[in-house]
Amino acid sequence: MKKVKTVVIGGGIVGAGIFRDLALHGVETILIEKKDFSSQTSERSSKMLHGGIRYLENMDFALVFEALHEKNLWLKLTPHLAREVPFYLPVFKDAKRPLWMIHIGMYLYDFLSSFKNSPFQMKNASEVEAALPDLKKVGLNGAGVYYDGVMDDAKITLEVIYDALKENCACAMNYTEVLTVKKLNGKNILKCINTITKEIFEIIADQVIYALGPFTDRFLQTISMYHWEPILLPSKGSHLWISAIDLPLQSPIVMTPKNEKGKNDDRVIFVIPHGDQVLVGTTEVAFEGDYFDVRPSASEIQYLLDALNDYFPNLKLGEDKILSSFAGIRPLVRDGSANGSDRGKTSREHKIYQPMSDTYVIAGGKYTTFRIMGQDITRDICHKYGLPYNEQKSALPLRQVSTILPFEWTLPTRDDLIRICETEKPKTFEDLIRRRLSISSKKVWSQRVPGKDFNQFFLEHLLLLNKYITVTEEDIINCI
Ligand SMILES: Cc1cc2nc3c(=O)[nH]c(=O)nc-3n(C[C@H](O)[C@H](O)[C@H](O)COP(=O)(O)OP(=O)(O)OC[C@H]3O[C@@H](n4cnc5c(N)ncnc54)[C@H](O)[C@@H]3O)c2cc1C
Repeated sequence: MKKVKTVVIGGGIVGAGIFRDLALHGVETILIEKKDFSSQTSERSSKMLHGGIRYLENMDFALVFEALHEKNLWLKLTPHLAREVPFYLPVFKDAKRPLWMIHIGMYLYDFLSSFKNSPFQMKNASEVEAALPDLKKVGLNGAGVYYDGVMDDAKITLEVIYDALKENCACAMNYTEVLTVKKLNGKNILKCINTITKEIFEIIADQVIYALGPFTDRFLQTISMYHWEPILLPSKGSHLWISAIDLPLQSPIVMTPKNEKGKNDDRVIFVIPHGDQVLVGTTEVAFEGDYFDVRPSASEIQYLLDALNDYFPNLKLGEDKILSSFAGIRPLVRDGSANGSDRGKTSREHKIYQPMSDTYVIAGGKYTTFRIMGQDITRDICHKYGLPYNEQKSALPLRQVSTILPFEWTLPTRDDLIRICETEKPKTFEDLIRRRLSISSKKVWSQRVPGKDFNQFFLEHLLLLNKYITVTEEDIINCI
C-alpha cells in the first residue's frame, strides 16, 4: 500500500498536463494509466495545434483566443514536434461562405491571436492553382490562407510526462488500471491492477483527479459514492493516412464536403501533409460501442474518400491507397444549449466538477488547451497545501526530447532502441512501434525503408528488446 498526496487517473494529454503542473509545484503525485500513455484519444486527434477557425462561427471567441495563444506557446516549446504551416481554405462558386466572409474570419482569427499568427493571405484562383496543382479547378474563386500548427500528438503527451518525471515527487505508471475507489477515514483508497503482471495493489491518496477523457462517464458511474450523472456527448472522429506519393500536397487544405443532396454538410475535413504521409479527417458521428476499440467504419472511410475525390478528381483515390486509419472519441461536454445533440456545434470548452471536496473531474476541452485545462485544479491543490501557485511554470520548456522525431524520421539504430527502452517507458512492442518509433502500419515502414523487411529487422533485435519488454515473434509478425 502506497500513500501519496495526489493521484491523477488518465495518461492522455489532459492527465499528463495536470501531472506535470503538480510535479513542477512540488506536489507528490502519481499518474495512473490503464494502457500506454497517450494511446487513446490523445494519439487519435487531427494533430493540429490550433485555435479552431471554425469555432468562430459558434462565436466561441474566448476559446479561440485561449487556444491560439496556447498554440503559439507550444509551437515555441516543442519545435521538434510541432510546426506552423499555411492552411488553404479554397472557395468555390457555390460555397456557403463566400471569399469576403472568409476574409473577415481570417482577420478575426489573427486578431484573436494578438497578431502572433503568421499573417493570413487571400489568394486568387490562379495563385491557388499554382500552389495546389491537383485541386479541382472548376468553379474555383480563390482561397484564404491562415496559419496553424501540425504536431505529433502522442509524442507531445509523452514528453510532457517525461518532463514531470524529472521531479522527485512524480511517479507515472502505465498499464495500471484503477478498478475501484472508496473512502476510508476521509482518505481515498484506490484499488489498482498492473494489467501486465496482474498484481493488485492499493494506493491511499488525499486528492484524486479524474482526467479520463471519453471514459469519464463510464468509469465514474461504476463508483457508487459519486452518484454520477453522465455529462458527455461522445463524438467519434475517423482519419486516414494516405501516402504523400498518391496525394502530393505542399500545404494542408480545408475541405468543406457536400452531403448526398449536394448541399454543404457544415463539416470541415482537413488534408494535412506530415512528411511522407498525408492525414485526412475527420468525421463526427455518434458512437456507443467499446471506447477502447474504436475504428473507422466503412461509411466514414467512404465519406472521406468521396470528399478527397471531389477536391482532387484526377488522383482517383481508392481504399488501396490507404496506409492506415484510426478513430477516436471526442470527450465533448453536453452544453445544454439550443444546439442539443449537434456534435459539430457543441462547445469545445472544458469543465471541472467536484463530486467531493478532494475529488476533481475534468472533461471536454481540446488538445491544444491542455495546459490551461488543469491550471484551476493545480492552483486549488497548491492552495490546500499552502504552496504558492505560479502559472508560468507550465510554460517552461520540456526537458527530455524523444529519440525518434516525427519530422526527421530515421531508421532506429541499436543504440536508439536501447535509449528508448531505458528512458521512454514502453511496456509492449506496440508502444515501441506506434508511439516511440511513429510507425502506424507495415505499409508505412515499407515506404520509409524500402528493401528492409519489418519482421526481419525486429526479429534481429528480438533478444535485445526482450531485455526490456516482453515481445515474441508472433507480436512482431502480427503487431500492425
Ligand atoms: C477525431 C478527433 C480529432 C481531434 N482533433 C484535435 C485537434 O486537431 N486539435 C486539438 O486541439 N484537439 C483535437 N481533438 C481533441 C483532443 O484530442 C482531446 O480533447 C484530447 O486528446 C483528450 O485528452 P484526454 O487526456 O482527456 O483523453 P484521453 O487521451 O483519452 O486520455 C484518457 C485516458 O484515461 C485512461 N483510462 C480510462 N480508464 C482508466 C482507468 N480505469 N484507470 C486508468 N486509466 C484509465 C485511458 O486509457 C486514456 O488513456 C480531437 C479529438 C478527436 C477524437
